[in-house]
Amino acid sequence: MEYNIEKINEIGKMLAEVVGEAMTQTEEEQVRIGDVEMALRETLKAVGQSGLKQFLENADSELEAEIECTCGGKLQYQRRRAATIWSVFGKVVYKRAYYAGCDCQKGHAPVDNHYGIEAGKVTAGLAHLIALSGIKESFDEGRKWLKEYLLFEVSENTVRSETQKMGDLQRRADQELVNAMQDEKSLQQRERSQPAVSDILYGSIDAAKVRIEPRDPKEKVLENRETWRDLKAGCWYEGEAVPVRQQSTRQKEKVQRESVVLRAKQQKYFCDIAEAQEFGKLLWATGCAAGADRARLLVFICDGAVWIWNLIAQYFPNAIQIVDWYHAADRLKRIAEEVFPTLEERQTWLKQVTEDLWQGRVELVIEACRPLAKKSKWAQQSLTYYSNNIERMRYDQFRASNLLIGSGVIESGCKQIVTQRLKLPGAQWHLDGAILTAKARTAWMSGEWQKLVSARSLLPLAA
Ligand SMILES: [Zn+2]
Repeated sequence: MEYNIEKINEIGKMLAEVVGEAMTQTEEEQVRIGDVEMALRETLKAVGQSGLKQFLENADSELEAEIECTCGGKLQYQRRRAATIWSVFGKVVYKRAYYAGCDCQKGHAPVDNHYGIEAGKVTAGLAHLIALSGIKESFDEGRKWLKEYLLFEVSENTVRSETQKMGDLQRRADQELVNAMQDEKSLQQRERSQPAVSDILYGSIDAAKVRIEPRDPKEKVLENRETWRDLKAGCWYEGEAVPVRQQSTRQKEKVQRESVVLRAKQQKYFCDIAEAQEFGKLLWATGCAAGADRARLLVFICDGAVWIWNLIAQYFPNAIQIVDWYHAADRLKRIAEEVFPTLEERQTWLKQVTEDLWQGRVELVIEACRPLAKKSKWAQQSLTYYSNNIERMRYDQFRASNLLIGSGVIESGCKQIVTQRLKLPGAQWHLDGAILTAKARTAWMSGEWQKLVSARSLLPLAA
């Protein structure tokens, strides 16, 4: 947007005067720059309110005696009627032409319709900021942050409802994508469009527990229900080499072992609290959107839960499957700690077996674990784990093909959704609230927030 710089300077000059006058009235002896900034912000907020009011009031200067109603009937001009909205500048009351008198009993304000305003409600611009605070912090904490930024208060409930409205838009988008990718016609259409193809595309899936409150408190007492549910999350991404000057110390150490240090880029997250089969449809749909079926190489890196590998086999049978290196290696550490009493024994065993794993000699790892299975339940479980995942642990081959072997992307994703948001102190969730908040946050993490903001600005018209 381009502004008339002369007018801006004029307004700036007026602002400086207004703020200067206000400040001379203050008792404070020493005015600091922070005081001036704050006074300017307060003034700009008031100017914004006035500007928005005048803009909207100027917008419907062309009055008509009669207009068409959405039902097909006729509406007559009544008067200029006041409406209140909550904008990024706070409360704005403006008057606009109001039409009524149709048989359908509905009134109509063309200006509201034109700008997507819902009288009495939050504007799309403010909704965007409110929801941003709601995906980052608890709703109450978000409310406090907003007050600092916006210089006025909204309620905790407003933060909740606007955040979850964004989540609902994401849920609708997910559902549309799922429907389209289950539909033969849409799939064929997509086949013809042929967008750009990734060389190597990665997918990762994981789950984390979220505590869900029953709708009715009695429910819990009566049935003593298990209230922990799995939030399932996935991510599509590509890999790129980390430039040497950006490498962390840990990564530089890794260079000693590996030819290139890779990191994820263009992460697209998705999530739901649903059964595996239902989640599978979302996996497939988001995978199609990410071009998973078209990449030269599709690679899944996961921490081996059975339902995850089953979904991958069902939807992407040709993908390379990799067990996350860190989970595989950490198991060995825990076995060593449980089984060997001395540090020396522990380290000797661990050094050899970790090297075997790193070189993809999984059979040797299994042999090393076998005699320990009698001594430790963990070793016994791990024996099964390594035996079931032999081909998913050929780390030598994966490294030779320059593939990522760690599923840090999805662990970080689950952490950002669950640990850093759903599990914040004081958080209590009904199923829907948890899903919607998680989906809204996922859109932000995927760089898709702007899509929700655009969809949100169309909301009153769509309703
Ligand atoms: Zn009507």
